[in-house]
Amino acid sequence: MDFENINKYRELFIGVDNPVMLASGNMAMPIGFDNGATTPSLKSSYRAFCKGLVTYGAVARGTGQKSEITTQKYEEARQIILDFFNVGNDTNYTAIFGKTTTECINLLAKVLIKDKNERVLTTRMEHHANDLPWRYNCNVDYVDVDCNGRICIDDIENKLKKGNGEIKYVTITGASNVTGYINPIQEIAKICHNYNSKIIVDAAQLVAHKEINMKGNCPGEEIDFLVFSGHKAYAPYGSGCIIGLKEELSKVIPFLKGGACVKAVTDYDVVWKEPPELHEAGSPNSLGVIATARALQELKIIGFDNIYEHEMILKEFIIDEMKKIDRVILYGDSKNIDDRLGIIAFNIEGEDYKVMGKKFADEMAIALRTGKFCAHPYVNRLMGISDEIACYNAYNNKPTNGMMRASLGLYNTMEEARSFIAYIKYLVSC
Ligand code: PMP
Repeated sequence: MDFENINKYRELFIGVDNPVMLASGNMAMPIGFDNGATTPSLKSSYRAFCKGLVTYGAVARGTGQKSEITTQKYEEARQIILDFFNVGNDTNYTAIFGKTTTECINLLAKVLIKDKNERVLTTRMEHHANDLPWRYNCNVDYVDVDCNGRICIDDIENKLKKGNGEIKYVTITGASNVTGYINPIQEIAKICHNYNSKIIVDAAQLVAHKEINMKGNCPGEEIDFLVFSGHKAYAPYGSGCIIGLKEELSKVIPFLKGGACVKAVTDYDVVWKEPPELHEAGSPNSLGVIATARALQELKIIGFDNIYEHEMILKEFIIDEMKKIDRVILYGDSKNIDDRLGIIAFNIEGEDYKVMGKKFADEMAIALRTGKFCAHPYVNRLMGISDEIACYNAYNNKPTNGMMRASLGLYNTMEEARSFIAYIKYLVSC
């Protein structure tokens, strides 16, 4: 692959070539290395959004033409998204739209768990969005990570075995937002099903980077529930979405209660609708859903093999170069990197991560993320920070430890990767 010729996807995106102001007052092209947080839009998705605005009306509420058009587009988007995950023809699955991945996992934790004693297994790799909702709703146990920050699949199986078929759900990230490790969700699904457990995948980081087939390649490998956010997959205002087993989401009291989720409300009774409407109280973010569906369609057209290859080349270049730079601390396994997305967490020895992160932006317009990335237990493990220290610092308002994170997207270029590396070299030489 020609390194210099791998930025052909950039023109598909909006806003990525709009200059921003540096601390010096000069203008510079931004380098968007914070795609793990949120992504710029694909032009096609943005156009679908704008087109949707022209015929914008209330979803499933009005009698007007615009209301009908928007409702139709909204339902078409639902079908596109189900198809994207290869469950479009399977009536066992439904797609439910919410605000974000965070809201959607909170919804699942509320409606799937019937009793606080029900058991759920998760991991120490999770974003808080896939940890805290379970902590507060059920009896949750954790699979730990190894010294490189990977999850050991045998540990999942051992916990399930010991659980005697009583662990109701295993909820796991599809890819880490800190190290980029991709978990073998299909293999894990199979193990879960062998032990009477269902799998929930937090696909927030995975969906824009790797093809996901919820049906798996053979029976037993099906993903039961999957959650993601359109705004991390190149869709403007992209909302959160759950794809999951309809039956388990039926005949439950919804997380959000209000209009549109009921068949009848009397003074003393409520007759609820079926999913997906049951879980979509209030006016939906219809344009965000339409934009999400269009972005996912576009990613399929570009082809996940191409997307993966592009991001892997950038990732390999950046990690290889960073390894050579004195004082750069890389987190996670930087030798075997095949199972990692283009997410690179790092520090510069002896320097404050917040100060450095700001310098990247102020001096080079390089957008990173700093801190613990809403995955404190995982970052604490990777940095060797004890719970005692972490809590002491937080309770006493002391500065907390953290990292910097570069997270790559499809529009990033080798030139940007080179600028990033050159600037790190400059920083360590100061
Ligand atoms: N899970 C993971 C793995 C994430 O990376 C994030 C966002 N950083 C979330 C969940 C939360 O996503 P949202 O902000 O859309 O709720």
